[in-house]
Amino acid sequence: MLSVIIPAYNEQDNVENTAKVISGILKEAGIKYELIFVDDGSSDNTWQIINNLADRDISVRGLRFSRNFGKEGAIFAGLRRCTGDCAVVIDCDLQHPPELIPQMVELHAQGYEVVEAVKSSRGKESLAYKMFAKGFYKIMEKSSDVDLDGASDFKLMDRKVINALNELPERITFFRALSSWVGFKTAKIEFQVAPRNAGTSKWKYRKLVKFALNNITSFTNFPMQIVTGLGVIFLVFAVVLGVQSLVRFFSGTAQEGFTTVYLVILLSSSMIMIGLGVIGYYMSKIYEEIKFRPRYIISVDTKDKERKDKIRTDGENG
Ligand code: UDP
Ligand code: MG
Repeated sequence: MLSVIIPAYNEQDNVENTAKVISGILKEAGIKYELIFVDDGSSDNTWQIINNLADRDISVRGLRFSRNFGKEGAIFAGLRRCTGDCAVVIDCDLQHPPELIPQMVELHAQGYEVVEAVKSSRGKESLAYKMFAKGFYKIMEKSSDVDLDGASDFKLMDRKVINALNELPERITFFRALSSWVGFKTAKIEFQVAPRNAGTSKWKYRKLVKFALNNITSFTNFPMQIVTGLGVIFLVFAVVLGVQSLVRFFSGTAQEGFTTVYLVILLSSSMIMIGLGVIGYYMSKIYEEIKFRPRYIISVDTKDKERKDKIRTDGENG
């Protein structure tokens, strides 16, 4: 059986249609499936719609978060609860073409354990967004050996991969990179990003910057290395300047070199500040991880209606 994991955050205009389209495609292809909608603490009617769907259709299951935990949490909750032999993660707004799922299942049947759908074109995005994404992926690729160009969250994973991901102890996760980090036999297929079906993108720039910083720091020590590198360069500068001023001093041509002093103080203190900032960022990561807070809290699972009021975080401090 195939589990389709669909994170949904304020997607009231999409859920119904998405369920219909995906089930249509899977039924036609003769694939047994379950749809798992993970409501990431939506403030609109998303949950009511998912809940109704689950009541009507046994192949639909809904998980409701107690608040907005972010798409990462939603994906990992789906992976934890899904029961299929393989799972596909797909956006709720149909920007990831579900027509590709049968093809992905076919590749899985051929023995591929991960099937990644790679964006051949980014959909309609502003120039700033594109540049931001490009820059972010470049840093990630250069510094962590995980090639993310065109990567998306649209993937099929075998049960083995799901289990491997479920076993990762960390809580600050980056699904897109982790799913290639775990390895396994991987196939790639290309797709064009479709325009959003309804509603608006759920990302705000602040959230995106946070997302990027989070992922860079949880995957690489690159920023720390920049600081070290800059430190070395400045040391060289300092030595040269020091020698120069000593020579001037002894040859009696010393000037009131206050500019130099200012410059050196300003530059070195800014370096120190940056360095402290970077270290602080990593420290805060350690702090986050060490708290062992769950990644998400599920308030309702349509599969266990009778125990509706019980908040389950069973062994899911993940
Ligand atoms: N999403 C989520 N939690 C969030 C933000 C987004 O579960 O905090 C879901 C959203 O419902 C959608 C998917 O993640 O199914 C992708 O979001 P969106 O389409 O807004 O992002 P974009 O396509 O613009 O990258
Ligand atoms: Mg989208």
